[in-house]
Parts: sequence; structure tokens; C-alpha cells
Amino acid sequence: MPEACTYATRFLAWWGLALYLFQLGSRRQLDYDLRDGGPPVLANLNRLAGTQQTTLPVHDTLDHFLGHVKLAGWERLRRQMVQRLVRMKALDAARLLGRFVLLIDGTGLLCFRRRHCPDCLVQRHGTHTLYLHQVLEAKLLGPGGVVVSLDSEFIDNADAGGARGRRTEEVKQDCELKALARLLPRIKKAYPQLRFVLALDSLYGCGPMFALAEQFGWSYVVTFKEGRTPALWQEYQALRRACPENALKRQWADGRVQEFRWVKQLAYRDSEDRDWTFNALECTETTAAGERQYFAWLTPLPVGRNTVEEIAQKGGRDRWKVENEGFNRQKNSGLNLEHVYSIDPEKWKAYYLLLQLAFILVQLLERGSLLQRLAAAADRSVSKLFGSLKNVARRLLESIRFVTWAEDWFDPRAAGPLRIGLDTS
Ligand SMILES: [Zn+2]
Repeated sequence: MPEACTYATRFLAWWGLALYLFQLGSRRQLDYDLRDGGPPVLANLNRLAGTQQTTLPVHDTLDHFLGHVKLAGWERLRRQMVQRLVRMKALDAARLLGRFVLLIDGTGLLCFRRRHCPDCLVQRHGTHTLYLHQVLEAKLLGPGGVVVSLDSEFIDNADAGGARGRRTEEVKQDCELKALARLLPRIKKAYPQLRFVLALDSLYGCGPMFALAEQFGWSYVVTFKEGRTPALWQEYQALRRACPENALKRQWADGRVQEFRWVKQLAYRDSEDRDWTFNALECTETTAAGERQYFAWLTPLPVGRNTVEEIAQKGGRDRWKVENEGFNRQKNSGLNLEHVYSIDPEKWKAYYLLLQLAFILVQLLERGSLLQRLAAAADRSVSKLFGSLKNVARRLLESIRFVTWAEDWFDPRAAGPLRIGLDTS
């Protein structure tokens, strides 16, 4: 298709981002909603991209383009966005004891009944077999529930070597730990100056993760579960009883009660006979209705009266946000994470990265100070002004289709001093 060659890269990048920014749900909608969308669409996309294209592409042009562009290009773009947000201090309110919280979690992306490429992960469930692709995501925690994709490691067949005869749970653990061992060194290389605290599921609470974190000068808060490290759990229970003074109780206006307990200097020897010491903390939360939840974590961060609440919240409880804000939102909305935008392995990875880039922009719009100010001027909250986040995307789509965006809205001199503040309420 020679047509793609006539479009500037920047223009096609925005054409791709549009798929997710306007939550179109499928590639074909690019044609229906944008190509045949309205006279201002071409001018508005040119404004965004700083180009002078004279025609709009079709959805196949995007697919063709993504097949040609290297994934590294999208990764570089994401790095620039993250570094800008860090420099603007937009994420600082969510730091934990001065460190950036990096939420790490894996999720399924694509699932087929038949093998679709040589790298499919294979899972047998009784009589049928599933062919999967998964990704391990590292997301920076921001204020107000914002999560910023910082890096993504794809998990495939090579990671599951020797899967035959092993339990699904074991294979999953093996794959995700191997992916983690590729992901963390790459993050260290890209962001050598940032001090992270990794927030992780109990699956990662083992020697290889402790060693990587120590090597890079990072910290971690990992879910502490009896089943993962039984001996350590027993030691914790014994020490906890021995120091009853390590306790803090908080009562909230809504009737919730939180009780924190902690133990310092737990000793642990991993499967390679390396010795580690870290602290443990727990939080029991009881609602006014009497519902009780229990959480526990391991961390080398200093635990004590002044720190346990912050560690439990930002390092522990907020990890669900990767699940909630990150994956569920990307799956259950027009962003359509699990939709098969392409079955070509290189292309669908590009679609995935495009989605991550667009989701950063979507959240900055939804949670940013500019929209808050607009709502405040109308004397309403953002949710009252738009009704739902889906409506924000729809209004954006209406805008690109029916409003010709003025040149001075894109004046870099006016935009330069703007600082994006994020909703911290
Ligand atoms: Zn495959």
C-alpha cells in the first residue's frame, strides 16, 4: 500500500492514538467516526501533529504503518512522556517516603482457541487448550488514582520452557519471574536516577526479586502470604506476639477502624542460600458494618508508628489500582484492551503500546487541573459536568468532528509554563 508513504510519521501516530483517545473500540471505526466524520477532522489532526496532510488515511493505513515502525519508537515516546511528568513533579504527591511507587503486575492480553503464532503460551484446561499472550506491566503510581505505564514486558512461549507436566500456577510464576528479570534491568537503564519502591504481589516475594531490588538500590512492598513463605510467616506470628507495643489504631469518621502491627528485622534464607532481612507489617480494617479485611506485606522500608500507614496505603493497598485503573479500565471500556486489533505478533504489541500512550493522555485529561478548572467555572464537579468518563471521550470525539480547533490553542509559548496538577482528593 504506497499510500502510507505519503503520510508523515507524526500524523499516523496521532491517527493511531485517536483510536484510543476517542475510545472507538475497533479499527474500522476510524473510517466511520473520523474519515467520514466531519470537515474539521483533517485540520484538527494536522493541528495535533503539526503537519499539512491533504487527505485522511484509512484504518488499513494505520495497520500497515504499525507493521513498519519499530516498537522501540513507541517505547521512546513513552519514556519522554514519563520523564516530562516526573520533571513537572506531577506525580510527587503519590511518592512513598520520597520514592516513586512502581506497581508491577501481569495480565492476559489475547486468548485464542487455536495456536495463532509460534510464541503462544499454551494452557491446558481439562479437555481444551488455550493459546495466550500476556504482558507484565510496570506502572508509576500518581495522585488521585492515576497510573502511568512506564514499561511493558511481553510474556511468551520461550518463558514457559518445559511447561509440560507442571501445574498452571507454577508455570505462571516461572513466566512472570523471568519477565521481571528482563523488565527491571531495562527500567534501571532507562531511569538510572529514579529511586523506586516496587509494589508487588506475593508471587514475586522471592530471592530473585530481592536481589534485583538490592542491586538497583530500590525498595519494595510485597504482599506477605502464609502459603508463599510458610516458615517466614510462622516466625512473623511469633515475633508479633512478642512485641505487642508495635501497634497503631486509627478510627475514621466513616466508622472504619484500621489496626496496624509490625515486626522489624525478619530473617529469610532464599532457595539459593542468600540471607535477607526485612520488616513486616499488617493492617486489619473493620468497616462500620463489621466487615473485616486483613492485609500483610514485607518491606525493607523502615516500619514504625510514623510510616506504617503510608507504606500500607501507597505501597500495599494502592496496588489494586494497577488491577482497577490499569487493566480493568483498559479492558472494560472503549479502550478495548483484549480486542484483537491485529493477529500479527509485532503489530498487536504496537497496538498495545499505543493504548498505553493514549491512556496516559486520557488520564491527564480526566484527572488534570484544566478539566477541574473548567468544571469549577461551571460550578460543578467533573463527574456532574460530564456524567461519566465515557462521556468525556464522546465529547472529545464530537469536538474533533465538529469544531475547528483554533491555532492559538496550540501556541507552545502559552503551553510551556503550564503545569499539570492532578486531582489529589
Ligand atoms: Zn501467539
